Amino acid sequence: GLSGWIRTAQSERVHDHMMGLIHRQCIDMDLAFYETPEYFDHLHRARSEARYRPEALLESIGGLLQSSITLVAMFAVLIPYGPWIVLALVISTLPAFAVALRQGRRQHAWRLRTTADERRAWYHDWLLGAAEAAAELRLFGLGEYFQSSYQALRRRLRQQRLDLAREQGLAQARAGLVALLVMGAAMFWMVWRALQGQVTLGDLALFYQALSQGQSGMRSLVDSLGQMFVNMLFLGDLFDFLALEPQVVDPAEPVSPLLTGAVHFEGVSFHYPGSRRLALDHFDLTVPAGQIAAIVGPNGAGKSTLVKLLCRFYDPSAGRIALDGIDLRQLRVEDLRRDLTVLFQEPVHYSASVGENIALGDLETRAGEREIAEAVRAASAEEIVARLPEGQATLLGKWFRGGTDLSVGEWQRVALARAFLRDAPVMILDEPTSAMDPWAEADWLERFRGVAGGRTAIVITHRLSTAMRADVIHVMKEGRIVESGSHETLMSLGGDYARSWARQGAAGVLASV
Ligand code: ATP
Repeated sequence: GLSGWIRTAQSERVHDHMMGLIHRQCIDMDLAFYETPEYFDHLHRARSEARYRPEALLESIGGLLQSSITLVAMFAVLIPYGPWIVLALVISTLPAFAVALRQGRRQHAWRLRTTADERRAWYHDWLLGAAEAAAELRLFGLGEYFQSSYQALRRRLRQQRLDLAREQGLAQARAGLVALLVMGAAMFWMVWRALQGQVTLGDLALFYQALSQGQSGMRSLVDSLGQMFVNMLFLGDLFDFLALEPQVVDPAEPVSPLLTGAVHFEGVSFHYPGSRRLALDHFDLTVPAGQIAAIVGPNGAGKSTLVKLLCRFYDPSAGRIALDGIDLRQLRVEDLRRDLTVLFQEPVHYSASVGENIALGDLETRAGEREIAEAVRAASAEEIVARLPEGQATLLGKWFRGGTDLSVGEWQRVALARAFLRDAPVMILDEPTSAMDPWAEADWLERFRGVAGGRTAIVITHRLSTAMRADVIHVMKEGRIVESGSHETLMSLGGDYARSWARQGAAGVLASV
């Protein structure tokens, strides 16, 4: 009836509100949080608890009120027979109360302890059903392997949960026995008085009724208190999650200049949280406004790290990074990021139309079909869009009905168009040609020069044939720049760059300078 409707409406609203808080927190947290398992544990719990804990707390409070009202009525009946009866009732439920508190605490602690396992089970569950893993699972025959890992984890969790429940059951039974003894004694005393003719049989019946109701009232009071306690513990954990503060924050007095896009790294050292190794080691780099700089270097040299620091996903442990001479930490984070456009090494494949995939590069300007078409042209993706059944409106990805998938290289071009849509003074492209065929790649940088149109650009690449056409090439190794100069300068220097060319030729991939 009506109350069912109210309950549903209320629980849906509470759920959506809590999810809103969690999402807000996900957006605001530092990137570093996404690299710590503890964060995911916390997020995992927050997500699963937010669904029902607030409502459960309300319910336990409701239960508490209800049983209190019953109890007051029963006590009123019992007190005339002697206040000690009420006292005995209260004392007889103390063990049950202690059991409820202890079990609540144990249940909560168990959940904290096993979140990692629970999440691992969830991970296997995800692998078994994910499109990303489906091909390898079949080819390497990994399905049963991951399934049995999942089952082993679930078995362990289930066993622990059952152990906990059994202990709880036993403890409750022991506490119940105490209550029963008290009740037996009280009844015994009353029967004895009836035999002596001090009370009537009617009194005896009423006493029995009140006593047993009083006791069941006390039981449900204790139950509600226990529930309330557990719900509060879990909600506390949820609020701890919501209270986590990001480290990368806006300055008190932000500077907001019109940037021209000169980039400086001065003696920047950085190691990832939880890692001792310096990903950047007294790193110096200057890219004057309007220059196209290529960064080359082996895997793990720190190329993507410098991009992440420039976006201020992290702050360096030493040194400073500046745009037009202004330390990044003096800029409002949002302003800084609006002045950058980045093609990340692994761009996101949004399950949305091609047009939307590109428009997401700049939601503020509300790009229309014309601007999107321009970005598509700049990224040399016209043919890709032209081939699609509904042009810009074609839904990409296989998540939703009617979606079309693209090849890896095609996705990369779409992501490039997204990066190009945003008109920012600094463009950073992390391996823009990695998935490009050699024909498309050959004169890519020349075409890009037209797109950049005098803006500052940092192009990270493993392809020497892309790098050679940049204004200046920086060779990175173990967190530092070891050589810088034009193609000709570096070739005549005879260092890492020249050796790489000699080894791998024009189409060379700079794998191991
Ligand atoms: P590639 O050519 O393979 O893309 P890269 O030069 O871009 O390599 P980075 O991604 O900057 O290399 O990594 C630099 C170093 O930092 C590597 O040793 C890497 O293992 C380490 N590293 C990168 N990301 C993280 C992270 N999130 N947490 C811890 N260490 C990391």
